[in-house]
Amino acid sequence: MFARRFQRALLINPPTGLYRRDDRCQCKVEDQTVQIIFPPVELATLAATLRRGGAEVELRDYPAQSAGWEDYIEDLRRLRPDMVLVNVVTATSEGDFDALRAAKETLGADNVLTIAKGEYMEALGESVLRHRPEVDFGFHGEIDLVLDQLYKGEPLETIDGLIWRRAPANGHPADVVRNPGHPLIEELDALPFPARDLLRNDLYRSPETNRPLTVIHGNRGCPAKCIFCPAGVMSGYRIRYRSPGNIMAEIDDCVRTYGIREFLFHGDTFTINKKWLIELCDLIIASGHKIRWGCNSRVDTIDDERAAKMRQAGCWVVAFGVESGNQEILDYMKKGQKAERAFKAAEVCRRHGLRVHTFFVIGTPLETRATLRETYEYARKIDPDFFDFNIAYPLPGTELYEIAEREGLFEKPPDATGYANAAVRTRELSSRDLTEWRRKALLSMYLRPRYIARMLYRAGSPRVALNYVRAGARRFRQLISPAPDS
Ligand code: SF4
Repeated sequence: MFARRFQRALLINPPTGLYRRDDRCQCKVEDQTVQIIFPPVELATLAATLRRGGAEVELRDYPAQSAGWEDYIEDLRRLRPDMVLVNVVTATSEGDFDALRAAKETLGADNVLTIAKGEYMEALGESVLRHRPEVDFGFHGEIDLVLDQLYKGEPLETIDGLIWRRAPANGHPADVVRNPGHPLIEELDALPFPARDLLRNDLYRSPETNRPLTVIHGNRGCPAKCIFCPAGVMSGYRIRYRSPGNIMAEIDDCVRTYGIREFLFHGDTFTINKKWLIELCDLIIASGHKIRWGCNSRVDTIDDERAAKMRQAGCWVVAFGVESGNQEILDYMKKGQKAERAFKAAEVCRRHGLRVHTFFVIGTPLETRATLRETYEYARKIDPDFFDFNIAYPLPGTELYEIAEREGLFEKPPDATGYANAAVRTRELSSRDLTEWRRKALLSMYLRPRYIARMLYRAGSPRVALNYVRAGARRFRQLISPAPDS
């Protein structure tokens, strides 16, 4: 069976609010300490792949453009795409599917193919296709090449990673079919660079410097199996790398073509492979580009040699998922790291002039008032430059979701969940307790006079200091009053 061919594709982040739409990090932008809007480079990579095959592609990030539903409908009428793809996020799933329904209603159901991708589809794709006629196809697993195969008109049953409807035939009833996942892509260098010409690059800026910023995906996969994180399910448990030369070529393109000099290197654990990391840093240094970048790391994959080289290559901040100050909870989360290791990691970073951003995850089932206190003290002791206490977010398909369902911990529907607003209780604490604890803990951490003085001192320029003050005031206003439903 074949899908109807398409030629004019529209890839969108629907107008359903400013969210981080990474598979493993889905949250309201306003719920984060660093309220940064990242460009949808994953959609831009899909766009580049399609264009390489000959399709005409448009990309819209409606929330970042401050554009609403009228703008989207206007685009549908004007561009008349025959394929629309959305990246579905759990918290905005209803609105995301509304965008596909709007495409069918505006263009005619038979005139447009509608596709949903994202971690949500990984877990719930078959159910979506059973109950939502507005969705023609779902993608699951690593999907870069799935869209291309669909575009080329390959038989549906041969396209790995596709979820589709089989029409009744030869006595078989109609059914939803989930093909096996697409094999993980080994040759990441073979993927095209994201089609940044389709993005409004001026919309994505560093909150610190206000200069244009982009994301570069350097590696994929994570060997850890944290119970709240879908990284391994989506990208595999083995890390695959782009070559340093290929990443350097993308940096070069960003600098020369788009004037972008600020980067986040997205990689579930960017610093794990020392040789690869140092080779990349050496290329950046040799290029002479004065770029500024940050990355994700794990506390057990940073040392003096790495930190020194990263700093020399323009790195200024390293983010660590330290999660909890209680070892029993860390083990329950299957984090595979020792709590004390975070002190050493922070120390190494500071020694080399790198700022430290730590993420804590609170509210997994074993959490109590005592363990929260322990995490708070732990956070004060690490004394990071930036920090977030994210409330555990049971994404469908994760082990945490199964536990929450099994133990009856949901107090609100899964789509009401968020980093700032708990949907699940722990065995001891209510979702309201967690939401309130997070609010007060963040306020208490931010309002330390020494912390404020240090941040302003380290800002390095009046412009950055002013941006810190503005961000701090905005955060303070958010946190000062209890959440309406908490
Ligand atoms: S270390 Fe854990 S939280 Fe981080 S990417 Fe891997 S699985 Fe996810």
